[in-house]
Amino acid sequence: MEFNLEYLVRENIKNLAPYSTARHEFSGDASVMLDANENAIGSPVALTINELQEQLNRYPDPVQTKLKQRISAIKGLPVENIFTGNGSDEAIDVLIRIFCEPGFDNIITLPPTYGMYGVAAAINNIKVKEVPLNAGFQMDIQAIADAVDEYTKIIFICSPNNPSGNSINRQDIEVILNNFDGIVVVDEAYINYARQKTLSLQLADHPNLVVLQTLSKAWGLAALRLGLAFAGKEIIQLMNNVKYPYNINIATQELALQGLQNIEQVNAWIRDCIEQRNWLENELNQLPYTQKVYPSDANFLLVKMTDANNIFKYLQQKGIIVRNRSSVPGCEDCLRITVGTENENRILIDTLKAYTA
Ligand SMILES: *Cc1c(COP(=O)(O)O)cnc(C)c1O
Repeated sequence: MEFNLEYLVRENIKNLAPYSTARHEFSGDASVMLDANENAIGSPVALTINELQEQLNRYPDPVQTKLKQRISAIKGLPVENIFTGNGSDEAIDVLIRIFCEPGFDNIITLPPTYGMYGVAAAINNIKVKEVPLNAGFQMDIQAIADAVDEYTKIIFICSPNNPSGNSINRQDIEVILNNFDGIVVVDEAYINYARQKTLSLQLADHPNLVVLQTLSKAWGLAALRLGLAFAGKEIIQLMNNVKYPYNINIATQELALQGLQNIEQVNAWIRDCIEQRNWLENELNQLPYTQKVYPSDANFLLVKMTDANNIFKYLQQKGIIVRNRSSVPGCEDCLRITVGTENENRILIDTLKAYTA
């Protein structure tokens, strides 16, 4: 007998390119963090450890009823149409495990887009068919139709899209919803910043629709790890059957409930962020090495620059961290810059103005 790890590990896990977050790639000290699309201003929660203390010895509510009732009131959706997950990432994984047979089925993603769809598929040994967005970062409907085969179970559409920032045309999404008989996941992580309306109120028209949202961005609660999925009640029931029983811990349930009381504060922050985004776009456009600032419906900007790699390194030396996307197909020479606080944005622009090639 000889223990051989290589021999034991599944082939798809051996070959896995794991998800790399902005914080995997940078762990030093930085004064300005504009790399992870967080709400830079703050969180709407006043931490109350004392209230939590009494509940720590008990298992938390496995179906998160109070939390879902609050989300239901805010979103105008019945509780039975709501799933809460350990980040949107749990919802993505659970959906793949529900619908895709390992080694047989496939999903379609639309790059450049959020990396977790592909990573979750790879972990589950599900093939990914990539159908690139066009030059305007919109869907190529015909190419998607051509890519669909009998084993295609899920199409992931990210709108507003990360890292390009634009919303995907609503009519195109409806064409996919009406013509694809698998699941269509519309990831609305950035919907609070968008001009476009959420699709979550269209669930009755589309039994194959799943909408993802999160408390990690506009709600300022990335550290709590709370993702939302909205779908028909049969799909939500399947998601509840597959998730870990106590997937949302008590601290997250209680603190999220608190945060969700402060909707006025969050809405004010969203307005501030959009104002800052417009200011930043204007300033970036005046820099000599900016080639293009892509239109954004999110809390970040994708910026094409001559010398992007060097500018990225220069900013890092100055303690300003942005996301370098220049090696991503479709985002050549691009940096993705999160809208920070007014002060952070000014520091960024002043620092960029001082850059010389
Ligand atoms: C940030 C982000 C999420 C959020 O993920 P969580 O796991 O909820 O923090 C989901 N989708 C996209 C496209 C994102 O950019």
